[in-house]
Amino acid sequence: MRLRDKVALITGAGGGIGRETATLFAREGAAIIAVDIDDAGGDATVAEVVAGGGRASYVHADVSVADDCQKMIAAAEGTYGKLDVLFNNAGISHAEDDDAINTSEAVWDLTMQVNVKGVFLGCKYGIPALQRAGGGSIINTASFVAVLGAATPQLAYTASKGAVLSMTRELALIHARENIRVNALCPGPLRTELLMKYLDTDEKKNRRLVHIPMGRFGEAHEIAKAALYLASEESSFVTGSTFLVDGGITAAYVTPE
Ligand code: NAD
Repeated sequence: MRLRDKVALITGAGGGIGRETATLFAREGAAIIAVDIDDAGGDATVAEVVAGGGRASYVHADVSVADDCQKMIAAAEGTYGKLDVLFNNAGISHAEDDDAINTSEAVWDLTMQVNVKGVFLGCKYGIPALQRAGGGSIINTASFVAVLGAATPQLAYTASKGAVLSMTRELALIHARENIRVNALCPGPLRTELLMKYLDTDEKKNRRLVHIPMGRFGEAHEIAKAALYLASEESSFVTGSTFLVDGGITAAYVTPE
């Protein structure tokens, strides 16, 4: 087992990448604090972990709210005695996120609150817990859009993920000698709820697929496996990385026919 006796807190654990990661980490021996604002989704994740013989607790917390973030970290230490892995994964992609002219301030602010401030607050309250545990691994979910632009604009989302990436680099340096590693996990387009509700026609899906050398969307479980690597000792010399798991998108100029 690659996470034996570890305690992992996963935000956005009520679905998508978060749920896949919770079940995978639990199978690898970790106790899970599953955080979300979707109580039904969070409870379902815990039930799946427990059914697989693992340990998990659900905590309702909005990552954009400081008190909630303090509460989720306290829950990890209170329930399982420590925190070893912090996966700041919760994120939103707003349906009305567009270009500079058409994105409202409200959509911009909400996206920044959840995607950027949420990661900041997770780190603000999570890093002291990792220090108390003698070190650990932080994984922040950014995106391939942090390094590549798209003519199908989601300006607030793209900017928010750029912020996650640069925040991650700086945190990695600040804590590099404290046995705390901080990496940005950058998924390519995935077949999860978050993207599929936005690409709601075949035409929109195909407009994306032509840019993916592998010719398909990624799956949440493929991102969970990358998160497992970053969480475990196997990545013990990896920090501050832009960890792209993207089906080859960022390598491509012309994709295969
Ligand atoms: P998802 O929508 O399936 O899951 C996101 C989860 O976060 C949901 O359960 C949601 O309830 C929760 N959440 C939303 N706001 C929250 C808040 N304020 N506090 C706590 N929880 C909250 O999406 P996913 O595809 O699993 O996305 C996970 C992460 O991966 C996000 O940060 C997303 O931006 C990123 N990402 C996704 C893709 C993709 O194609 N799906 C690509 C790159 C990056």
